[in-house]
Amino acid sequence: MPEKELKVKLLSSTPDALSLIYAACRQCYSAEFAGDIFEKAKEDSGKMAEFITKIAASGHESPLEHVKFTFAVQGVSRALTHQLVRHRLASYSQQSQRYVKEDNFSFIVPPTIKKDPEALKEYEDVLGRIQKGYNRLLHLLKSKGIVGEKANQDARFVLPQGSETKIVITMNARELLHFFSLRCCSRAQWEIKALADKMLVICKKELPAVFSKAGAKCEALEYCPEGKKFTCGRYPLKKDVIKESR
Ligand SMILES: Cc1cc2nc3c(=O)[nH]c(=O)nc-3n(C[C@H](O)[C@H](O)[C@H](O)COP(=O)(O)OP(=O)(O)OC[C@H]3O[C@@H](n4cnc5c(N)ncnc54)[C@H](O)[C@@H]3O)c2cc1C
Repeated sequence: MPEKELKVKLLSSTPDALSLIYAACRQCYSAEFAGDIFEKAKEDSGKMAEFITKIAASGHESPLEHVKFTFAVQGVSRALTHQLVRHRLASYSQQSQRYVKEDNFSFIVPPTIKKDPEALKEYEDVLGRIQKGYNRLLHLLKSKGIVGEKANQDARFVLPQGSETKIVITMNARELLHFFSLRCCSRAQWEIKALADKMLVICKKELPAVFSKAGAKCEALEYCPEGKKFTCGRYPLKKDVIKESR
């Protein structure tokens, strides 16, 4: 039963992303055909980037939906993917526990447990017992002639939320900005934050005109909207920056 580390790889992203967003934006305000704007746009990427940064900051975000990023992710727990798939404006393809037998399942160790030897021993003991129980269930089902995905789909009921999974995620640039605003915040759960942080690094590199100020909401706002109880203290509180108008 191996422990797995988080790995994120960009599989694909929309080509000519800047020209595409630019043409879609410009189409809203121009009598010209977006097909022609798209071709001309490629000649001046600096101007396009500046325009797109301004437009995105203004809240005119629908042109960003034309650009998509697809990531391959491994070394995440089922606890993470349960949270991830709550983001509905995205596409997912996840490793199946029906078709992939978990007779030597990998797992994620939360950092608080990893740094406490007693807790780590308890965690590993529990995982070991679960693995034995899962394998025993497969064995018992097999003795009744139930094998393959029919056996896997029922034996998996004993598997823990910490078991490792792999998933392919596609999100458009607008949804990614939203995802980062929620999941790069220090209030987000540590594992999904680690995933979002890695995806953000890739997006910033691939498309800085859109993602240079992306991240937790505070990065663009330059104040913390979470309030005194939840703030991490990196930015001042909203009430200290924006005075209520009466
Ligand atoms: C810190 C934190 C704690 C959380 N705690 C819990 C919890 O305890 N329990 C729990 O159940 N969830 C919890 N969640 C999940 C949260 O409620 C959302 O389900 C999740 O973050 C997905 O966000 P979303 O709906 O904005 O995103 P998406 O599904 O990605 O949607 C993007 C945006 O599209 C719009 N949209 C999409 N679908 C609809 C719709 N049907 N109607 C109207 N507008 C729509 C909304 O503007 C939405 O923000 C938590 C999330 C965070 C970040």
